[in-house]
Amino acid sequence: GIKHGKGVMKREIFVYDKNKETLEFLREFFRENNEYSAIFIKDTQSLLNKLNKRKPDTLVIGSPDELKGISYSKIGCPVISMLSGNITKSIRSLMQCNIECYLISPFHKEDFEYKLKTAISKKGLLENIYGEKKDLETVLESIHLISSTLDPKEALYFVVSKIAEIINVTRCSMVSIPPEERNHAYVISTFEDPKIANIKLDLKKYPEIRKSLSTRKPVFIRDALKDPLLREVRHIIAPIGIRSILVIPIIFRDEVIGTLFLRTSRSNHTFTEREIRLCTAIASSSANLIYNAFLHEKVENEKSQFEKLAITDYLTGLYNVRYFYRRFAEEFSRTRRYKFHLSSLMIDIDHFKDINDRYGHRIGDIVLSKFANLLKKHTRKSDVLARYGGEEFIMLLPQTPAQAAVAKAEALRVLIGKHWFNEIERKSRLTVSIGVSSYPTHNIKDKDDLVTFADKALYKAKSTGRNIVVLYNSHM
Ligand code: GH3
Ligand code: MG
Ligand code: MG
Repeated sequence: GIKHGKGVMKREIFVYDKNKETLEFLREFFRENNEYSAIFIKDTQSLLNKLNKRKPDTLVIGSPDELKGISYSKIGCPVISMLSGNITKSIRSLMQCNIECYLISPFHKEDFEYKLKTAISKKGLLENIYGEKKDLETVLESIHLISSTLDPKEALYFVVSKIAEIINVTRCSMVSIPPEERNHAYVISTFEDPKIANIKLDLKKYPEIRKSLSTRKPVFIRDALKDPLLREVRHIIAPIGIRSILVIPIIFRDEVIGTLFLRTSRSNHTFTEREIRLCTAIASSSANLIYNAFLHEKVENEKSQFEKLAITDYLTGLYNVRYFYRRFAEEFSRTRRYKFHLSSLMIDIDHFKDINDRYGHRIGDIVLSKFANLLKKHTRKSDVLARYGGEEFIMLLPQTPAQAAVAKAEALRVLIGKHWFNEIERKSRLTVSIGVSSYPTHNIKDKDDLVTFADKALYKAKSTGRNIVVLYNSHM
């Protein structure tokens, strides 16, 4: 309704009718009854625009057929249909549209007034139902979308962003709580940042999550600064400016596998009953899917852990030969296709056997691992450094021609010669010999030649006296 001059609420009625006689009847009725404020609307578009902006207390229409393309269940206010002409047809479409309130011409003012009053009294009820229905639709839409989305990560993000969108929260996250460790939780999806994955939370600092975990019920904190549950962590919460917190447990097969975790800032609203119900509905109806996403996440982590192990050299942490050859094949074909340069350095520590003999294998291992770290520190992201064998390393330099590769090798040689590994005597520094080969030069026909030629150059470096860089040439 609209405020009247003396503070009385005027009921607002939208009228959308094409029938001349009906319009005349309505105009006269509203002229005589000024507790209503009637707005006569002529075309569908402006009706839709107006309905989007606000809901009248009642919408009066002619035959439902006149409103093609409007879903009556979505109008969100009571509707009275004024039927004239072909009544049978009109009533059928009323049934289809679920409109229960109608009048059949000839119209009488008393009937209309009665219908109008009944309709208006229903409005409050309808608004609630309409709101809940919209919520429910959101839940259903979410679940439908989640199940049709292939990537579980996206599914999680969809859920949190959907909730954040409807409820207008400051922070909305999905938290995973692994059953084996109940002291930590992981933020696996958060509305604020789609890229976030696996931020570890110390549950000591989140009594609200702990409570939801033990009670298996939603925890709602209206005012974070006043709630006794958060007394010990108030000093953490206060500076962030959090007002309300809502934790909804996600239960799968009788076990809390995680929570929805929502917070609003002090400048924002707190949660309403309806919002809490909506979140609970989303959490419970998507638990299955969320669980799958959790599982997927876990498997992915383990897989990447496994893959990492499979391509890593255990002593130095560098790539192993197996990985080197895989990358090498890729780099070589790319080089050939785009006519780039590709160089390789074969690096071998001079007289490493002496280190072992003097200090023992254990110290030898430590030195070797430190040596690898030093090399790694001077390797660009696009380069590939791998442990080729014992104390021999290979470095691939994509898009690097021979002379630049020689320069890089020389820089490494000097750097290593100057470095002091503090496990060994200061005066006995490590030195390296480096063989360099480069594509496209010489008679490199396939990728294996690149490695063979670097090896030949290295052999030459050793026989020349060590601590030297040698570029391959066809006489070797
Ligand atoms: P140069 O290359 O200058 O000819 O002499 P070198 O003594 O380094 O040459 P060689 O290839 O004959 O010997 C390599 C030595 O490196 C043998 C081995 O004891 C040592 N080595 C290889 N792998 C490891 C390792 O993983 N740990 C330790 N501690 N030593 C290793
Ligand atoms: Mg050696
Ligand atoms: Mg060697």
